[in-house]
Amino acid sequence: MVDVLIAGGAVMGASVAFWLKRLDPSLDIEVIEQDPSYATSSTALAASGIRMQFSDPVNVAISRFGLDFIRDFARHVGPSGEVADLGFKENGYLFLTTSGTGAATLESLAAMQREMGASTQVLDRAGLAEKFPWMALDDISAGSYGPRGEGFFDNMGLLNGLKNAARAAGVRWVRDRVTTLEREGDRIVAAVLEQGGRKTAQVFVNCAGPRAAILMRTVDLDLPVEPRKRTVFVVDAPLARHPDAPLVIDPLGIWFRPEHGQWLAATVPATDGPCAPDDFEPDLDLFESEIWPALYARAPGFEQAKVLRWWVGHYAFNTLDQNAILGRNPQVPNLYHANGFSGHGLQQAPAVGRGIAEQIVHGDWVSLDLSPLGMQRVLDGRPMTEAAIV
Ligand SMILES: Cc1cc2nc3c(=O)[nH]c(=O)nc-3n(C[C@H](O)[C@H](O)[C@H](O)COP(=O)(O)OP(=O)(O)OC[C@H]3O[C@@H](n4cnc5c(N)ncnc54)[C@H](O)[C@@H]3O)c2cc1C
Repeated sequence: MVDVLIAGGAVMGASVAFWLKRLDPSLDIEVIEQDPSYATSSTALAASGIRMQFSDPVNVAISRFGLDFIRDFARHVGPSGEVADLGFKENGYLFLTTSGTGAATLESLAAMQREMGASTQVLDRAGLAEKFPWMALDDISAGSYGPRGEGFFDNMGLLNGLKNAARAAGVRWVRDRVTTLEREGDRIVAAVLEQGGRKTAQVFVNCAGPRAAILMRTVDLDLPVEPRKRTVFVVDAPLARHPDAPLVIDPLGIWFRPEHGQWLAATVPATDGPCAPDDFEPDLDLFESEIWPALYARAPGFEQAKVLRWWVGHYAFNTLDQNAILGRNPQVPNLYHANGFSGHGLQQAPAVGRGIAEQIVHGDWVSLDLSPLGMQRVLDGRPMTEAAIV
């Protein structure tokens, strides 16, 4: 019997394992990961951004810690992480709005974010035009922009650094798939593995990303998390190269950001809904129907845009409120969750891993109260309102 068994060994599994060893080096921990290449994990397929611009203070606080961790990664994980730097590119995020009430909302959110240490500023159309002269802004009333503490970083560096440090501290990564959990009363007692083994543990942690609900169904528990497809396009627009641009969340229904002289861009399909966990077919029509018209409208030069390639990743989409579901499960208290991150889990991994490790080792949240994101709200059917969902 191990002390802690973690199902899923991408960024969340690695962060929980890393922090557990930090808090209690004596713990015996195994991480079961079905695909160590991570080819279809959300972690490997993310847009890799971090932002302070959330509407709920707990999400801002999570990102604040994530920012410190990502900026100074080598110091946080130590030499055993074997990753010197996450190449944080501090281009910022820019949320645009078309309406006057939208501008007022951005202003009150920015004030809350600044109180929590963010640099968010709200610019009117003239201010935006001065800062981003390459944009067409006729339909825009204002935008909120974080010039510091927001941007993009190396997703696989974050995963590998945490994983290397956890392994150096004694955590074992096992290549296998948890097919079912076994439950006796209010305890999970074992995880059954595809290759024939059965692992018992004191504590289980569900870090299975978009497949998290599949595991829960094996013990007759519901988790409102499902895989949702996101097709990300890599676009070359030689007449619109703005490598210092922020990640723009555009009211025309897309987001886009620069990447190595090109652009990444994506949208949420109008017919958004669950997909099969192994369906990675791209929604290629979205470029011509949604993304290209929006890019073309937002900035001169996109008329010559060309799609170079694309990839498809799955959000672990929380159908209740698109926010993380964290910590101890009140129905089976030796089961912990790091699930449902939708589109913002990568940046949350440092704080979430620390929080769950604290709950396991100390019995409660310690550094940061993550209870607003706990399972109880899910059981009560009480959505947490977070307006800044991308
Ligand atoms: C297109 C896209 C863009 C994104 N952009 C951002 C962004 O800009 N910023 C941000 O913060 N977040 C972003 N995200 C979200 C972020 O990628 C995820 O929230 C985060 O990576 C979640 O990590 P995870 O470890 O929970 O899940 P995953 O990375 O999906 O890992 C789950 C792991 O569990 C394994 N697994 C599953 N079931 C089993 C089982 N039964 N047994 C054993 N192993 C199992 C899988 O193989 C996988 O490796 C984006 C996601 C996508 C898809």
